[in-house]
Amino acid sequence: MRCTTQKGSRVEKMSERKKVSAVERQKKRTRRHAAIVLICIVLVAALAGGTYGITRLLVHPKTGTAVSSSAVSKASTAKDSSTSASSAAAASSAQAFEVNKTGLTGYQALYPDLYAKTKVGQWKDAADKTVYLTFDDGPSDLTPQLLEVLKKNNVKAAFFITHQPEQQKDPNYDKYLKEIYDSGCTCAVHSACHNYRKIYASPEAYLSDFNNMYQILKKATNDHVAPFFRFPGGSNNPIMSTSTRKAIIQEMTRRGFFFYDWDVDSKDAQGADASGIYANSIRGMQEGGNIILMHNTSVKKATLSEVENIIQYGKQNGYTFKPLDGTLDPSMYGFSNQYFIPLLKGNPNFKLSTKHEARFASLLNNGTSVSGAGVSSAGN
Ligand SMILES: [Zn+2]
Repeated sequence: MRCTTQKGSRVEKMSERKKVSAVERQKKRTRRHAAIVLICIVLVAALAGGTYGITRLLVHPKTGTAVSSSAVSKASTAKDSSTSASSAAAASSAQAFEVNKTGLTGYQALYPDLYAKTKVGQWKDAADKTVYLTFDDGPSDLTPQLLEVLKKNNVKAAFFITHQPEQQKDPNYDKYLKEIYDSGCTCAVHSACHNYRKIYASPEAYLSDFNNMYQILKKATNDHVAPFFRFPGGSNNPIMSTSTRKAIIQEMTRRGFFFYDWDVDSKDAQGADASGIYANSIRGMQEGGNIILMHNTSVKKATLSEVENIIQYGKQNGYTFKPLDGTLDPSMYGFSNQYFIPLLKGNPNFKLSTKHEARFASLLNNGTSVSGAGVSSAGN
C-alpha cells in the first residue's frame, strides 16, 4: 500500500515535471519567436534607415524614384527598369550641394534659400534610342488627358511649368500640378510669367520670375522641384542679350541649377498641324535626337492628339521613353554651351560625361576666368 502510494506519488511528480517542462518549452518557443521577430524588425529598420539616408533628398515620395528633386517613373514596370537603374545611380552619388554663400553681393544675395538641394555630380550620355518627352507651358485643361495618355502607355515625361495670367485664372491650376506630380512625371521650372521682355531684362528680373515659379512648384511637389529648368524660347533666344545670358547662366549654375534645351522640335509652338507634329517628332527620333520639345497649353490639342501615335511609333521601333531626372548630360543639347561649360571647371557640383568632357575640353579649359561659386559678376 505504502509502496503503491510512493509509486503513485512519483508518477504524479513525474507528470508534474512533464507539465512544467512542457510549459517551459512553450515559453522558450515563444521567447525564440519573439527574438526572431525583433531581429527581423531591427534588420528591416536598419536597411530602410540606411537607404532613406541616401535617397531622401532625391526620391519622389509618390513613386519611389529619384528625381534629383522631382522627376520620374515608377520602378514597378519592366519598361521603367532602366530608369530605376539610373535613378539608383543618381541616388548613390547624392550629396549636398556645395556652395560658398559668403561675400555675396547684388543679385547673388537675393533669395538666399534659392539653391538646388542636391549635388548632381557626374552626368551621363543618353543610351541609344532613348527619348525624353518634354511639355512646356502647362499645366492646362489638357493636362489630365495628356497624363491619361502617358499613363495608358506607361510613359513618364517632364513638364516645364508656367504660371501665366490665363493659368492664374484657372481654379484647377493647383489640381493639375498635383496630378502631374502624383503621376510621377517631372515638375521643373520654365517661367512664371513667360514674358520674354520682362524676364530677360536683367539677371534680377530673371531670378525674381524663376523664384516665383520655384516657390509654387515647391509647394505643389512637397519640395521636390527638379534642379534643372528650361529657358522660355531656349537658352539662345534672341531677346536675351549676350551679357544677360552669360550672367543668368552663371548665376543659376552657381545656385546649382542647370538647363535643358532640346534636339527635336515638334514645332507645335510654330503652329504645325497634327501630321506635322508627328512627322517632325519621329524624324527627329530617327536622326538620333533624344529630347522632344512639345507644349501643353489649352490650345495644343493637335499635340495631345499625336502623343500616343509618337509613343507607339517609338515603341514599335525599339525606342525607350524616359523622364528627365537630372542625370542626363545637358551639354548634349545645350544651345549656350559656350557660356555654360566654362562654368563647370572646378565646380564641385557638376561633371560632364566622359565623352563630353573630351569633346568640350577647350571650353572647359577656358573656364579659368570664372568659378562655380562666389562669382564676381553681381550687378553686371
Ligand atoms: Zn515656353
